Parts: sequence; structure tokens; C-alpha cells
Amino acid sequence: DHLSANISDPVQIARAIYDVEEATSTAFDIILDHKMIKPETRASLIKFLQLLSAHHPSRRCRKGSAEFLVSFDDLYPTDFWSTNKQEDDKSSVKNLKICGKDVPRGYWMFCRGSKNETRGFSCGLWVLLHSLSVRIEDGESQFTFNAICDFVHNFFICEECRQHFYEMCSSVSTHFNKARDFALWLWSSHNKVNERLMKEEASLGTGDPKFPKTIWPPKQLCSSCYLGLDQRMNKIEWNEDEVYKFLTEYYGRTLASLYKDR
Ligand code: FAD
Repeated sequence: DHLSANISDPVQIARAIYDVEEATSTAFDIILDHKMIKPETRASLIKFLQLLSAHHPSRRCRKGSAEFLVSFDDLYPTDFWSTNKQEDDKSSVKNLKICGKDVPRGYWMFCRGSKNETRGFSCGLWVLLHSLSVRIEDGESQFTFNAICDFVHNFFICEECRQHFYEMCSSVSTHFNKARDFALWLWSSHNKVNERLMKEEASLGTGDPKFPKTIWPPKQLCSSCYLGLDQRMNKIEWNEDEVYKFLTEYYGRTLASLYKDR
């Protein structure tokens, strides 16, 4: 059942770790293949690379991101687009493997769907973003919010997703001062997407039947996250301290310890 897709045992944890690397390198392959680095998107990629270099759970992805950053101005000088340099054979960029030469391997573990076209990259990207959100410090929370919002807006290949996510980003009017607030914002935004897709997938028959969308985390994973149900609003009342604790355990400590030497 779909709960088996949750990171609740060592095998699932190992699978999720694998997919964070797979998602990262797939994201950069897409960016390079589709020539998505442009004068108007350049700054947002640099920001995201900064975030990955410091906080990606996998050491080899941190290393690859840092190396890309170091050569960024040489590979994409600001006059790159006004000259014919785009046509140059940029073998160093073509061969760029942000998480090392072994990834992407071309398949998914934790995020593997029951059909070819479901889950995979978009699931891996969520796992990556949540993993980043629980690894930052308070002083980086606004930067991380901007870096993630701009990255999704400029580089996520799914048009509907980037539009929806951009709307959620734009509706934030406060400044994030706490890492906790940002991690909870991302969690709650993901639940809004889940909620919308729950209805959509039920009426259109889309999605992956083996992995139906749920409000997350389900009680089976974190009963202390639930305070109760607001009957009038038909909304779950969350214990956000417990949710944050759960998120940091789930995406932070466990992933981090397993990624220690990679
Ligand atoms: P996913 O939703 O991808 O979740 C992956 C895993 O994260 C789950 O298995 C679970 O373990 C965990 N998880 C689930 N919910 C939460 C939560 N609230 N907080 C923390 N962890 C959680 N698809 C659309 O059709 N329309 C959209 O507008 C859209 N917007 C998207 C925006 C972004 C930024 C991303 C990354 C994806 C978006 N998608 C959208 C894709 C969609 O959200 C799913 O990724 C996709 O349908 C695959 O679903 P999944 O079952 O693998 O679970």
C-alpha cells in the first residue's frame, strides 16, 4: 500500500537517499540539455548552487555544485549570450555531472512509480527540497525560500507545477527569520499540492493508483503531529512543533547520517 512509500524503515531511507542524488543530477541534465541557462535565469541558478554546495545531504553533490560554482563565470560569462559562444563545443559543460560520474543511473528507488510516467523526478525533487529545508540555519531561511522559489520557477520542466508553486511563493508576504518557519511553509505548500491533486486525480483518473495522494504525514507515521480536526472548517489542526520535529528526523538526521561519507 502507499504507506510503504514512506521513509519509515532503513530500506526506504536508503532508497530516498539514492533518489535525492538522482533528482539533483537529473535536474541539471535537464537544465543543460534544454539550454535553460539564460541571462534572466543565471542568477537564480547561482543561488541554488550556493544552497546545494553548503547543504545538499550528499557530499558528492555538494562537491559537484561547488565545482560548478567555481567555474560558473568561465562557462557562462555575462557576454555569453551576446556573442557566438553558445555554439562553442562546451565539452566541460556537457560532461558536467553534478553528483559525480555514477549518477544519474536512470532509475528511481523510493520514488519509483508503478507506471513509467508517474512519480520519479517530481517526487525526487520534493524530497531534495525538504531535505534542504531541514539543513539550513535560521539566518539562511529567507535566502533558501528565494533560492527554491526561483529555482522551481525557472528550471522545473513541469509548466503547471511552476505556475502553481510560483503563486504560493508570491502569496508569502512575511520575511522568513527561522529555518523552522520555512520548513513548515514548504511542508504545508506540499500538502496544498497534495490536496489539489487528490481531487484532480480522483476525478480524472490520473496519477499513480498505487500511490494515492494523502495529507502528509499520515497519523500512522506521526500521530503526535495531529491535534484534532476543526469540524467547522473540516481542516486538520496540526501540532506544528511535532510536525517540525518529525520533518527534521525524517529528512534531516536520518538522511544526513546515511550520506555522511558520500
Ligand atoms: P510527491 O507529492 O512527489 O511526494 C514525494 C514524497 O514526499 C512522498 O512519497 C512523501 O513521502 C513525502 N511527502 C508528501 N507530502 C509531503 C509534505 N507535505 N511534506 C513533506 N513530505 C511530503 N503536479 C501537478 O499535477 N500539479 C502541480 O501543480 C504540481 N506542483 C508541483 C510543485 C513542485 C515544487 C513539485 C516538486 C512537484 C509538483 N507536482 C505537481 C508534482 C506532484 O506534487 C508530485 O510530485 C507527483 O504527482 C508525484 O507524486 P508522489 O506520489 O510521488 O508524491
